[in-house]
Amino acid sequence: MPTYREAYRRSIDEPEAFWAEQARRIHWQTPFERVLDRSKPPFARWFVGGKTNLCHNAVDRHLASRAQQDALVYVSTETGIERRYTYAELHAEVNRMAAVMRSLHVKKGDRVLIYLPMIPEALFAMLACARIGAIHSVVFGGFAAPNLAARIDDAEPALIVTADAGARAGKVIDYTPLVDEALSRAEYKVPQVLLIDRQLAPERLQASYLVAYEPLREQFFDAHVPCEWLESNEPSYVLYTSGTTGRPKGVQRDVGGYAVALAASMEHIFQGAPGDTMFTASDIGWVVGHSYIIYAPLIAGLTTVMYEGTPIRPDGGIWWRLVQQYKINLMFTAPTAIRVLKKQDPALMEKYDLSSLRTLFLAGEPLDEPTAHWIQSALKKPVIDNYWQTETGWPMIAIPRGIEELPSKLGSPGVPSMGFNLTLRNEATGDACAPGEKGVVTLAYPLPPGCMQTVWRDDQRFVDTYWKSVPNQMVYSTFDWGVQDEDGYVSILGRTDDVINVAGHRLGTREIEEALSAHPAVAEVAVVGIADSVKGQAAAAFVVLRDADRINAPGAREGMEAELCHAVDSQLGAIARPARVHFVTMLPKTRSGKLLRRAIAALAEGRDPGELPTIEDPGALMQVREALGN
Ligand code: ATP
Ligand code: MG
Repeated sequence: MPTYREAYRRSIDEPEAFWAEQARRIHWQTPFERVLDRSKPPFARWFVGGKTNLCHNAVDRHLASRAQQDALVYVSTETGIERRYTYAELHAEVNRMAAVMRSLHVKKGDRVLIYLPMIPEALFAMLACARIGAIHSVVFGGFAAPNLAARIDDAEPALIVTADAGARAGKVIDYTPLVDEALSRAEYKVPQVLLIDRQLAPERLQASYLVAYEPLREQFFDAHVPCEWLESNEPSYVLYTSGTTGRPKGVQRDVGGYAVALAASMEHIFQGAPGDTMFTASDIGWVVGHSYIIYAPLIAGLTTVMYEGTPIRPDGGIWWRLVQQYKINLMFTAPTAIRVLKKQDPALMEKYDLSSLRTLFLAGEPLDEPTAHWIQSALKKPVIDNYWQTETGWPMIAIPRGIEELPSKLGSPGVPSMGFNLTLRNEATGDACAPGEKGVVTLAYPLPPGCMQTVWRDDQRFVDTYWKSVPNQMVYSTFDWGVQDEDGYVSILGRTDDVINVAGHRLGTREIEEALSAHPAVAEVAVVGIADSVKGQAAAAFVVLRDADRINAPGAREGMEAELCHAVDSQLGAIARPARVHFVTMLPKTRSGKLLRRAIAALAEGRDPGELPTIEDPGALMQVREALGN
């Protein structure tokens, strides 16, 4: 076994040889002629000429050896439904869905917009698209009509697949009126909408464009739809980024490179073996869902657990109950879910047998030390932070325990993954940073397999957005700050646009947040820059206290504000001191746990926050509004 360092060096110095070996992990109907076409930087084409199919690799390929193994365990605590599907059953369901799509005239290259809650049909629909060569574009079921309309106009789908309703924490959300509104807002005319009827919505919309799935499924019950063999570089899907920092970008992914990268990551990073069970508690609307609920575990022959519900219903032990019951080996979620669980009674975890669980993976936002400590000591299993983006498709920084058992370092997701030629660069000069020096996390050309090919229908936006922001260097910018230590471990320090300029001093809002969080009374905090006529910008802090009542007594609020300002003064200097401290009881976040700094800053400056991503709780944004009114 090569060490991490050896394997990594080879993946960078000899990418063709390295990835040609990895490519053996999947089935190629036609072998590729070239591993890498680097004739048109920054575009990279992997496994040129090779023909394969994601659905074949995720489903059909396993029929010979594991037809009776569970492919999917579906659990909904919203509807009480728990169901297992073997690979043979999954194969049948995907064929039915593929036949239905074909009967609705969906062809290779057409887009299918999937606007579904976490139901098995969502997985069937994605795999059916892959099977017939249609490009899926999954839109998170929590998005409102205007967001959906924008994605319809960008993707121009031949078909939308939706359901009568989603459910969240016991509340039913009717989908058809949302789809109907989105269709009338969108300029692009979608010919038809396939409706999965869960019998949840009290009032179902009647519209001529709605086609019911169930009768068609019956009609095509015994259908067999052959896989469309696609050239490795044909698009498999378009997925929009969260939109935390601006207008969402349609991330376009290929077929062959994605399959190879995911298969490799399952061994190198996740150590998932065929027959293992993986529970990724995320949503199919996010990249984590695409890669680690659906494609990677199935390509690698695992059983994947798909969950509809929250982590605390019927109680905070539900996820641990699932670990025991389904003998889950690998779990993957976001730190935000762990923070929710941390507030639960620890007895709820101790009640269950967690001996099957090997590792918990966390990604999507910074993993703060208290949360990392808590979950590690509660679970007594390795907790692996990993850092990536919708754009990269799989972790670009992690601990590659499948290659070498490197130790974890608190505060760092780990070291660069195979093929990610990662360098921290000085934002002003583009020069590589020395160890310990803060810089922008960048990737050199070519991006490894599995990363975005381009922005959907906008090659120029791909080049201009990602490859032109670092001076004197044509490198991919992640737009995240980081610092790398002597051993190669990278810590992520926040986003580049979280930097504010106060009277000529450049300050990271994340540093100010950390200074404030260090105060024992503080539970959570968000700092944004707001326009200031004198200083250019000033910092505004939104603070959630552990005990909200603490500031109710006369003068207590002012006292707390002074204490917090003092904390910042003493750690970063008076220049970083927030101009205002606002107290709220919750912060506006996306459903995937990301702080909505852009929206908070817009409100603080009296601007329209624009298109909002999915919000965990709209009440939080109201609180920010109210706090600003005070
Ligand atoms: P947009 O690019 O549209 O503004 P977004 O960046 O929020 O949206 P995602 O691709 O979902 O969309 O999120 C990726 C970002 O999440 C990373 O760039 C980084 O800022 C953050 N992130 C992900 N994982 C980690 C992690 N382990 N530690 C710290 N930050 C992380
Ligand atoms: Mg981003």
